[in-house]
Amino acid sequence: MTSSVYMDNHATTPTDPRVVDVMLPYFTEKFGNPASRQHKYGWVAESAVENARNSVARILRVDSKEVIFTSGATESNNLAIKGIAEAYSSKGKQIITCATEHKSVLDVCKHLEKFGYKVTYLPVNEFGLIDLNVLEQAIIKETILVSIMIANNEIGTLQDVEKIGMICAKKDVIFHTDATQAVGKIPVDIESAKIDLLSFSGHKIYGPKGVGALVVRNRNKKLKLISQIDGGGHERGLRSGTLNVPAIIGLAKALELCNDSMDEEQKRLSLLRDKMQNAFLTELDEVYLNGHPTQRLPNNLNISFMYVEDNTLMMSIKEIAVSSGSACSTAQPQPSHVLKALGLNEERRHSAIRFGLGRFNTEEEVDYVIDRVIQAVKSLREFSPVYKKRVATKQTVSELQHPK
Ligand SMILES: *Cc1c(COP(=O)(O)O)cnc(C)c1O
Repeated sequence: MTSSVYMDNHATTPTDPRVVDVMLPYFTEKFGNPASRQHKYGWVAESAVENARNSVARILRVDSKEVIFTSGATESNNLAIKGIAEAYSSKGKQIITCATEHKSVLDVCKHLEKFGYKVTYLPVNEFGLIDLNVLEQAIIKETILVSIMIANNEIGTLQDVEKIGMICAKKDVIFHTDATQAVGKIPVDIESAKIDLLSFSGHKIYGPKGVGALVVRNRNKKLKLISQIDGGGHERGLRSGTLNVPAIIGLAKALELCNDSMDEEQKRLSLLRDKMQNAFLTELDEVYLNGHPTQRLPNNLNISFMYVEDNTLMMSIKEIAVSSGSACSTAQPQPSHVLKALGLNEERRHSAIRFGLGRFNTEEEVDYVIDRVIQAVKSLREFSPVYKKRVATKQTVSELQHPK
């Protein structure tokens, strides 16, 4: 058994060595600037970037002119939402998003609120799904954009993007989706879901950090989008700045590798995930699954181990890298807004652990994690007076908290 297990693949993934290999020449002998049009160094870099763009476009089944390289999903989300807000402010200033979005969507919306935009944050049900009727009713004449993610990064819940796209198209509203956890992991059909803008990132798909893309569709009419980084007019004027050539090459290779093994990986990871889930649910009492039981990512498992504080559990399984509900993806640890939006009580939110399986996890590692977590939960519960009282009186936690 290796000395540590990485099971936090929603936060980031290791760069696949095959990705690193294709990137390396672009740091050294092929270091040219793709914007240098007068010499071979520039041409070599430019053609490599265009090959990468074509490859990304082919896999996502869009036109290569619709792929804009960025520094990651945070930037893609900023460009999509601020870019549309700025371009369509004369039509209206209302934006619709959802309470469980990533901070790189929610914080952008909050920023826009300071400039007179009205943002509707749709609630979700206990499984993390928005209500499509509520979405449809929320769309008004002033609505310019709906931004709803495909797959949630904490609980793995998959929204009904095809239906969301249908509603947006019917109401003639632009549809942006943060597909960072979905692209490369599950099939994403941009055309049939009528997606206008789609964000994703390299480092969530075994590519390098600091690179991503925004797909800007021009389905029926040309979408207006105002750039947020100006200077030089790179990326069709939508994102200026010298292109990060090695990272772009790596992003395309990473997406190709994910695409080639997607079916197998979906099956393999969901079996491993189910094995973990079943072990926890059968061998421990008062363990709850957070998120949707079926409509979810194959590699996600978010579980609350009641009576055991998430960070305490993590401290006692230090060699295993997972995430807790109270120190999510943001720079500042704070209680998870996602688990809160599900309506979970505080005990359940503070005992939630996210397991994110990935390409390099083995069954041996999964078995190890199962044993270690079960052992740790059992021994920590030995120190929990509430748990002991519960066992002694055969009461459930809610009966203890709300005595009749
Ligand atoms: C990781 C993540 C982001 C941010 O991506 P970066 O490339 O790190 O900026 C945005 N949305 C979701 C759903 C994510 O999981």
